[in-house]
Amino acid sequence: MYINYKNNFLFEGKTKKIYNTDNLNEIIIHYKDIITSFDGDKKQILNQKGIINNKISAIMFNLINSFGIKTHFIRRINNREQLCNKLDLFTLEFVIRNIVFGSMSKRLGIKEGVYIQNPIFEIFYKNDFLKDPFINHDHAVFLKIISYEELNIINRISLDINKIIKKFLFDKNIILVDLKLEFGKNQEQDILLADEISPDTCRLWDKATNKKLDKDCFRIGYSNEEIINAYMEVLNKIDK
Ligand code: 5GP
Repeated sequence: MYINYKNNFLFEGKTKKIYNTDNLNEIIIHYKDIITSFDGDKKQILNQKGIINNKISAIMFNLINSFGIKTHFIRRINNREQLCNKLDLFTLEFVIRNIVFGSMSKRLGIKEGVYIQNPIFEIFYKNDFLKDPFINHDHAVFLKIISYEELNIINRISLDINKIIKKFLFDKNIILVDLKLEFGKNQEQDILLADEISPDTCRLWDKATNKKLDKDCFRIGYSNEEIINAYMEVLNKIDK
């Protein structure tokens, strides 16, 4: 059914390629070996990263689907590709934080590593030119990207997803510091979780040592071997 999909190229992003399929409502997402940070300013090839993230993200989405939360993920079809529902994505990124780190620490002047009792939900405008600015509900509605009702639904689902993943990872000896989620709507106007959940989109620390197991390894300049080992460690810990 999907044999000729490579003639059906739809879109290429920083870390993925998207293909149409012969079903109008389904796409194939191909995970590349590119790693980027600082809104694409820094980027390099990281061998095997696409394979590892495809597997990690498939595990995460299967987990979320198993809780009855609607996502775009249908199934992983090979090492680098997964079959997903085609969505109209909101140009927003939603970050949920369990521990202060990264931009929140800088923005509010709070030391990195402080535990957050009630996870914090943040909205960013997905716009490379503006470097994905931090915005609030009113900005997102003013920009005509989304309604208040949709934002409330996404806020609630995001906190549920955070709770599910945090517990799952904690049982595998990984701390979920924060995660970035994206959502979109299908033809029926249902809101579904989209994109990926992987060390590219979350901060993950080893429970015993607080060792970083995510894209921060790249942001702070670790070697390719160290970065890929960190990603592999996440996969090995959760793939049991
Ligand atoms: P921060 O706002 O602290 O830079 O990032 C919070 C979390 O969201 C981190 O886990 C970070 O990796 C993720 N995140 C924020 N923006 C992006 C983005 O544009 N792309 C990806 N892949 N992850 C992001």
